[in-house]
Amino acid sequence: MRCPFCGNIDTQVKDSRPAEDHVAIRRRRFCPACAGRFTTYERVQLRDLVVVKSSGKREAFDRDKMERSIRIAMQKRPIEPERLDQMISGIVRRLESMGDVDIPSRTIGEIVMETLARIDTVAYVRFASVYKNFQAADDFDKFVSELRPQSPAGE
Ligand SMILES: [Zn+2]
Repeated sequence: MRCPFCGNIDTQVKDSRPAEDHVAIRRRRFCPACAGRFTTYERVQLRDLVVVKSSGKREAFDRDKMERSIRIAMQKRPIEPERLDQMISGIVRRLESMGDVDIPSRTIGEIVMETLARIDTVAYVRFASVYKNFQAADDFDKFVSELRPQSPAGE
């Protein structure tokens, strides 16, 4: 695993332990070249999912991108980081078990909304208001950029 600080490829695992209720393995890594420390997570990937946009364009599913949009919607909401990670893993597992490698971008948005609705109403409203205005829900980068962090009213 390449060091994110100096680019050295030879990094060492200092510690491995189960995380997210044994869904992931968390590894603490150390870079001997720059003494940098960083963490990686290992997770089961049942299949390589492909997102199909409404334009018909296809791209590899990017868990980080989805996670980013959820984290923005969840900003300043009372949820433990561990629970948030579990929620995101749950969404990915649902997508992976849908029986088809190709997943319409719309389906991903809907599953995220459904999950947020059960966990945090404010985050759900934030996500849904941007998602619904965003007609095609096509370009996820644009979607994420419209879903800006906002402070709750009265602050
Ligand atoms: Zn380094």
